[in-house]
Amino acid sequence: MARLQYSDFLKQLYGCRVQKLNVNAGFTCPNRDGTLGWGGCTYCNNASFTPSFSKPSLSVSQQLIEGKSFYARKYSEMKFLAYFQSFTNTYASISRLHALYIEALAVPDVVGLVISTRPDCLSNEVLDCLCSINEQYRVIVEVGVETVHDRTLRIINRCHTWKCASDAIAKVAERGITVGAHLILGLPGESEDDMMETVKTVAQLPIRTLKFHQLQVLRGTLLAQQWERGEVDLIDWTPQQYASLCKRLLQILPERIIIERMVSTAPKSLLLHPKWDLKPVQFRKIFDDLF
Ligand code: SF4
Repeated sequence: MARLQYSDFLKQLYGCRVQKLNVNAGFTCPNRDGTLGWGGCTYCNNASFTPSFSKPSLSVSQQLIEGKSFYARKYSEMKFLAYFQSFTNTYASISRLHALYIEALAVPDVVGLVISTRPDCLSNEVLDCLCSINEQYRVIVEVGVETVHDRTLRIINRCHTWKCASDAIAKVAERGITVGAHLILGLPGESEDDMMETVKTVAQLPIRTLKFHQLQVLRGTLLAQQWERGEVDLIDWTPQQYASLCKRLLQILPERIIIERMVSTAPKSLLLHPKWDLKPVQFRKIFDDLF
């Protein structure tokens, strides 16, 4: 059986063609607000992936309506998933979370939720809430794992361990909720063998989707300061070298795991390293040409 494309996987899950719409519900993270640490992950700059309509000054429904209007002109039949992407989207009281998720699902043509979060923000109460919604709508939970190496997790100030991530993913899957993992390749001090080990280990988890991308050094982050001062050891890949690593990683991943993404982009104004200046489709061509 060949590996499904991510868009076909979503079509199977939701029974129609769907487009994810980013939502910024104004959350924070426990490693930003002092609960576990300050400042967040050293590489994190949410501005690098937040579209202009995802502003927490707008309500969740307003953001979705603006996002929908962007696509509706081109694809009138399209349905949508509310993608709670910015910061930690299960980090609030249950009543607030429930109200925001229900608000999103009340927007016409929104047929499901994709919720991105940290593994240490998936309490039983949060899972109960997601389960009750999942009975009527499909919910996908994306868990930020990043690496299985605790020494790296400490360097990047994640403030959780690999065990925390593996336990959280198991708990989400036990509840019958579709779960995916997010990884970053090229974290400070990691070799390609370390990354292979991460992917091999994560492949043992009950995940359906996997998203990974190259580490990007972005302006306004602690990582940018560390990189400019020469304090972190980062791989200086070409896109071809990185695509070759992706190819080797895919060879060890079972086909039941759907690959959502292999590369990341960022606005030129924010990106310091690596300066590839490639659209995902251009990277895909480099990747395909390796086969
Ligand atoms: S990467 Fe995620 S968990 Fe880390 S600071 Fe950014 S939003 Fe929070």
